[in-house]
Amino acid sequence: MSDATKDADHTGDGTRAVRAGLPEAVKHEPTLPGPVFAAHFHLPGEVTGPYSYGRDDNPTWTLLERAIGELEAPGRDDVETLVFASGMAAISAVLFSQLRAGDVVVLPSDGYQVLPLVRTQLEAYGIEVRTAPTGGDAQLEVLDGARLLWIESPSNPGLDVCDIRRLVEAAHARGALVAVDNTLATPLGQRPLELGADFSVASGTKQLTGHGDLLLGYVTGRDADAMAAVRRWRKIVGAISGPMEAWLAHRSIATLQLRVERQNATALAVAEALRQRPEVSGLRYPGLPDDPSHKVASQQMRRYGCVVSFTLPTRARAERFLAALRLVEDATSFGGVRSTAERRGRWGGDAVAEGFIRMSVGAEDPEDLVADVLRALDESAE
Ligand SMILES: *Cc1c(COP(=O)(O)O)cnc(C)c1O
Repeated sequence: MSDATKDADHTGDGTRAVRAGLPEAVKHEPTLPGPVFAAHFHLPGEVTGPYSYGRDDNPTWTLLERAIGELEAPGRDDVETLVFASGMAAISAVLFSQLRAGDVVVLPSDGYQVLPLVRTQLEAYGIEVRTAPTGGDAQLEVLDGARLLWIESPSNPGLDVCDIRRLVEAAHARGALVAVDNTLATPLGQRPLELGADFSVASGTKQLTGHGDLLLGYVTGRDADAMAAVRRWRKIVGAISGPMEAWLAHRSIATLQLRVERQNATALAVAEALRQRPEVSGLRYPGLPDDPSHKVASQQMRRYGCVVSFTLPTRARAERFLAALRLVEDATSFGGVRSTAERRGRWGGDAVAEGFIRMSVGAEDPEDLVADVLRALDESAE
């Protein structure tokens, strides 16, 4: 794992995470002001200032947006962040605000499982959709004439990685914008804007907030016009976060560095334990030195995430393994403090083997978790 590097301002990730987005201290006020529940705000006379109606803006969002912006693009004040009701709301906001009928968009063929549904909707609006896999920078082959390139690296659930700088350069040379889904890495693992992307988009439902108790999404971008269009989309669609969720998310970000360090280190330990097992094939974790993604990942990621994927010989074996785990809940999603795992094939849609398992490593003691996984593997053998 790469160490938490200090940035030009000599602030480490832990320091940045606990302070991110906090307002100036005011006597008798809490450090992080509580959620502001308001459908409308007192507004006499002319309409001035940001807070008028609750679908447009909310002070609790503002603080959270500042926090995420500080993590996605430390030291830069030319970026803007907008929070949304969910990761899909954020993704849709970028795609549907930036693309018009006749435009071409390039999506990953191995990305988040809802992207095929998005594809159908984009095509219904007359947008041409091309897809290519994340691995091997295959999206390069279909970039000509594209208006927007959508990257998901590492990809979910296959954990392939592409060379983001290389793809950005090729896309920009063709006049295309680039958005990176940064959900799996979190801003502590990867900073797409520093790699040249125009938008970093993510689900805050996963490791960013990390407790499996809320849905959230965000878009961070540096082009003011493009972000104005994203903001307009949020207003039109109303895909807004509730103030309580936004506040919980901000509170949770204070522990992001602690959670990410613990979970990602344990994910590597779990991957190393799985690698010794003959019944495990197709093991993937970008932080493993011999993982096919590791070389590229190490050039653009600072941390490698908490998700490990692997395949057991059969569907039945995978189901017995999941049932035998005691510390790992059989559940979808990832990034939470409690470990989860699932047989991904149960959803359909992903091109994965029947015995394919995506495991999200939580904040349990590493020895306990590794022991539980090894015991469940033993118990699930025929
Ligand atoms: C979960 C996820 C999303 C969607 O986020 P929601 O908050 O569930 O809407 C998008 N991209 C990736 C990579 C995800 O894992």
